[in-house]
Amino acid sequence: MKLYSTKNRSLEVSLQEAVFKGLPEDNGLYMPVVIPRLPDSFIDNLKQYTFQEIGFEISKALFQGEIPDSDLHQIIDHAINFPAPVIALDEDVHVLELFHGPSLAFKDFGARFMSQLMSYFNRGESKELVILVATSGDTGGAVAAGFYKTPGIRVVILYPSGKVSELQECQLTTLGHNIAALEIDGTFDDCQAMVKQAFLDQSLRDKIRLSSANSINIARLIPQSFYYFEAFKQVNTGRPVVFSVPSGNFGNLTAGLLAREMGLPVYQFLAATNVNDVVPEYLSTGVFTPKPSIRTLSNAMDVGNPSNFSRMMDLIFYKDERSTWNKMNELITGYAIDDEFTKQAMVEVYSQYGYIMDPHGAIGYLALKCFQGLYELPATTGIVLETAHPSKFKDDVEAILHVDIEVPERLAELADKPKMSFPLPPHYDALKNWLLDYLT
Ligand SMILES: *Cc1c(COP(=O)(O)O)cnc(C)c1O
Repeated sequence: MKLYSTKNRSLEVSLQEAVFKGLPEDNGLYMPVVIPRLPDSFIDNLKQYTFQEIGFEISKALFQGEIPDSDLHQIIDHAINFPAPVIALDEDVHVLELFHGPSLAFKDFGARFMSQLMSYFNRGESKELVILVATSGDTGGAVAAGFYKTPGIRVVILYPSGKVSELQECQLTTLGHNIAALEIDGTFDDCQAMVKQAFLDQSLRDKIRLSSANSINIARLIPQSFYYFEAFKQVNTGRPVVFSVPSGNFGNLTAGLLAREMGLPVYQFLAATNVNDVVPEYLSTGVFTPKPSIRTLSNAMDVGNPSNFSRMMDLIFYKDERSTWNKMNELITGYAIDDEFTKQAMVEVYSQYGYIMDPHGAIGYLALKCFQGLYELPATTGIVLETAHPSKFKDDVEAILHVDIEVPERLAELADKPKMSFPLPPHYDALKNWLLDYLT
């Protein structure tokens, strides 16, 4: 498989290099040079494939022989070891539950697939690999669970102090072993900037073998395209299919665009955000303006400068910027939803269907309702990506819906374990010194 940098088409690397590097030197993002179209017979016969077989077919087509079939089967079987069921609320609205993994959020798919790929490519290496990752909440928990006790690999997670939920913090800080949590006195954007700078710092990289695990790593993105096919398979409908994607860094939506490039017939994507509305803004104005992130109820989507935007542009690119913007508008509709409307949507879903949604999924739900309410459109089958289990946001969900939410046992037991984190100021030098102290 060959991948290029979004900043330089002629800089091509293998999958192995892209997975280990995370980011190209020019600070672009890796993208596949060739996005193969899967045969119609595959799409037409999706029902005959299990979720794992779907993942295998997609990876095999993308990887183009870089990993032998027998190894690839093993990687997929280990990574995709929990289901992604679609629940019908009614004929128009379906929920794709992506929270059946160890950290109760969709990021488990990417984290598990990436940890499998990395340990595969890392076999036979003598120097320890350090995974550096910034999290606004869910990424870190998924990555920590995905890499926990993986031999030869150490994980360092940066998270904004006081800006993740208590249970999210437990997922980062209670595992220990090869997992270290850095509690940064700043925002998620600070954490992300610190990580980015570490990757660009050659003097650090000379000493430490670094790799990333954010949604910027292509290994995170690829498995997220599997469940678009898996969901499509389950809805079985003649109607056009709309995916509503609660979005922050836009990895999930980018994976949806990738699935579409590979042949999945998607009618429309909804870019559903909270008030951090850089992409819906771009869709309506044609201007992409990053802003400082704003704290909301759906905190895993509090992103002011979504890093996958350049990948979306590349996937959709047509002739020039203006035409690309037009094309993006044909395919993606943006909705920015504030906390008040998010709460109302949660109440509506609960009272109408008895279904408890977390605040992120509720944003997707409301975006879908708005879209399906547009009078000139054909009847569509809507699929909302429910990105996290409601118990991850227990206090908020209970206060809004006046119900008791049970935390699944695997998460609940973390709360009793001791928390271990290293507090740091939001400056790169502090990170660099810590890494050099701790790891060398
Ligand atoms: C990470 C996350 C999102 C945002 O996903 P992106 O791929 O970054 O757009 C949405 N919901 C939850 C619960 C998340 O953890």
